[in-house]
Amino acid sequence: MNDEIELAPHVSEIKRTLSNVDESSILKELGMLVLEYGIPLGEAKLSIIRKHKESALEIDGLRRIADLRSGDHDVSVKGKITFAAMRLIMIRGEEKKLCSGFMADDSSEVPFTAFCEFDASAGDSISAYGAHVRLWMGEPELVFSESASIHKLEGDLFPSVKVKPRDLTKELREFCSGDRSVNLICKIISLSEDAVERRGVSGTIFKGVVADRTAKLPMTVWSDSFEFCPGDVIQIDNAYVHEWHGMPTINVGEYSDVSLVDDPSVLPGGSVVKLEYMSIGDVERRGSAFDVLVDGDLTSIKKGSGLIKRCPECGRVMRRGTCKLHGSVSGSNDLRVKAVVDDGTGALNLVIGSELTKYICGDVLNDLDLDNDAVEERIRSRLMGMPVRVRGNVSRADFGNIMVASDIQTMKKGAE
Ligand SMILES: [Zn+2]
Repeated sequence: MNDEIELAPHVSEIKRTLSNVDESSILKELGMLVLEYGIPLGEAKLSIIRKHKESALEIDGLRRIADLRSGDHDVSVKGKITFAAMRLIMIRGEEKKLCSGFMADDSSEVPFTAFCEFDASAGDSISAYGAHVRLWMGEPELVFSESASIHKLEGDLFPSVKVKPRDLTKELREFCSGDRSVNLICKIISLSEDAVERRGVSGTIFKGVVADRTAKLPMTVWSDSFEFCPGDVIQIDNAYVHEWHGMPTINVGEYSDVSLVDDPSVLPGGSVVKLEYMSIGDVERRGSAFDVLVDGDLTSIKKGSGLIKRCPECGRVMRRGTCKLHGSVSGSNDLRVKAVVDDGTGALNLVIGSELTKYICGDVLNDLDLDNDAVEERIRSRLMGMPVRVRGNVSRADFGNIMVASDIQTMKKGAE
């Protein structure tokens, strides 16, 4: 009877998932698998759950897709795959293969992401159990986690569900973090190799900037080789978009297709945006912007402007000789301005680096023996209220959007 006592908590655990199966038959099955066949306990539990769920799926527990709500868990569904695309993403430094797409039954269609084994493609009918529903870009999404199970079914069980080719092409201005399986045509503006470490092995990726007539965006290519050059117009199919340092970034992975476009007039509008001028209100509405121009007045010069010390290890700004991460280190000198730029339609936090600070402040910083407070004061009296035109990237941050200046010019008051 000792065995029974040991198995009892596991039987109750299985029972919680299989409410329609009685405990004595669970105990019998578990005992047989573990004690007679020597199958490891975890594996045995999973196999019992699978066996009963699979048969239950045929009888009850099936949910109509139209009835799925975010927060639902342990959901069983049947439907037809209307679109499916593989992608490889990095999660905490680990490569993870997953499949995303859409599935439909007679009631509705829903997007899905599968982290488990998935070999179905558009047009296949499937049954699945152990799924949950999350909110993704404001809509319910069916998620098949690693413990979920998907079965391809014989024949077309949903003849009324038509599989139509999808137009997943977008222009760059429409891209948001979370977009996946998207297609685009763009021009490569810049491209460089970058060293990375993946699973302890050092390799290469490519980073660059691409543009179309609507916007520019950064791009990361997760591959050791990329045969295209700046100036090339390329078509990218099955790309996905992740936010990186507050900026939507186009990711080209193992399952993406990239091809050279011979006829650049295929590029909508025939040309790419040069340098986009935006009102700050528009920047705020978009949340982030890559390489844009804004005009405005410097309405605040914040504390922390002026001379600062940076940690030589991580580049973070140090406070009282200490780095948040590396403790007491001897920092290197740097100079910056933290300001607010306002054009009447909105306001942005602005960071101006050392070279541009020296340029825009001119000779007021020429005394070498100034102390921190004096430098901050001179910067404030020089820049406060100054009308400027700033070029740079705007990224989303917890405490408001931040623009990092890549260029800044003073404007004449009342000009425009
Ligand atoms: Zn540090």
